[in-house]
Amino acid sequence: MDEVEAEAAKRAIMSGWVTQGPEVAAFEQEFATYIGGKYACAVSNCTTALHLALLAVGVQTGDEVITVSHSYIATANSIRYCGGIPVFVDIEPQTYNINPILIENAISDRLQRGIAERTRAILIVHQIGMPCDMKAILDIAHRHNLPVIEDAACAAGSEILWNGQWEKIGKPHGDIACFSFHPRKIISTGDGGMLTTNNPEWDKQFRLWRQHGMSVPDTVRHGAKQVIFESYPMLGYNYRMTDIQAAVGREQLKRLPAIVERRRYLAQRYQEMLKDWPGLKLPSEPVWAKSNWQSYCVRLPQKCDQRQVMQTMLDAGISTRRGIMCAHREVAYQHETWLCGKKQEKCHCEKGTCDRLFESEQAQDRTIVLPLFHHMTQQEQDYVVKTLKIACQV
Ligand SMILES: *Cc1c(COP(=O)(O)O)cnc(C)c1O
Repeated sequence: MDEVEAEAAKRAIMSGWVTQGPEVAAFEQEFATYIGGKYACAVSNCTTALHLALLAVGVQTGDEVITVSHSYIATANSIRYCGGIPVFVDIEPQTYNINPILIENAISDRLQRGIAERTRAILIVHQIGMPCDMKAILDIAHRHNLPVIEDAACAAGSEILWNGQWEKIGKPHGDIACFSFHPRKIISTGDGGMLTTNNPEWDKQFRLWRQHGMSVPDTVRHGAKQVIFESYPMLGYNYRMTDIQAAVGREQLKRLPAIVERRRYLAQRYQEMLKDWPGLKLPSEPVWAKSNWQSYCVRLPQKCDQRQVMQTMLDAGISTRRGIMCAHREVAYQHETWLCGKKQEKCHCEKGTCDRLFESEQAQDRTIVLPLFHHMTQQEQDYVVKTLKIACQV
């Protein structure tokens, strides 16, 4: 962000309308156009977007939602906000995304479902910007009549080959997609989120929920020539985005194509510089996917210790991050808060290891995220590669 975003924030402040007004409406419109979808509804962050998406598809107390443990904890948390139970499925080691082959086995037998045991939805994550195998996932979902929600927090600008054409993630290809504009993500509004869908009823519902369930939006009330009293027909939330955030978001959105282009260039460069390194596993992009490269995650050779490598890099002035966390290893996920398959099939989980989530745990323990940002120079990138070789004693 620079002067351009600062000016945009000023424009919103000086306009006198600072929350959920014309800037938010314009940001939504522009985001929908960018994604190539019908409806976009701005909210306070991606976690609240996920909460509303799950509510919209009917997730209630005791419902099971199939998802991954290997994600930022907000993914699984949003299921629990609805009283639902996350059912964790393992990931593919190459893409770090949900393994579609494992989904079907985690679906509760709906013919015999009891009150506390039923699969209600599938919540997939386009992890660090890499698109999931939506064809395979939707095929399973349609067979079982389950809605698919896409946690696209990191995936603004990522693309998927769909019926012979490249389409933006979030169009959506599932039922609802949720985006984040936290500073960690590819574009930012400070904090912020977006829900995209092609279902007008859900879009209407999101707009009510995000503003306390209020029957008439502020914009309508303030513009009216007659006195209007609002009412509250349902339980709502305060999940609004401010106009200050939206004004910043509109400027960030204009930058998105150039940001993605630069990141793709740098990711390609990492691929080329690191490809012949024995034991090092680079991220792999399926032929039908184009990542936005929000993060560039490498799997270290067996002989390299993750913490040691990261420390050596830090000592050289390079900050790295370990791989994405696993929710099931956190204290907040102890006891009966989650499942790792059908309820009757107990898995063996002890001291942060679960036999069914082996690849998820490996991804957390054996990978590091290398610096990649669109202002990165080639010299900086060369320095990262050189230091990584020293850190790993290659
Ligand atoms: C960042 C992130 C979230 C949470 O987004 P917020 O906007 O911070 O609420 C959810 N899911 C994934 C996969 C994320 O990376």
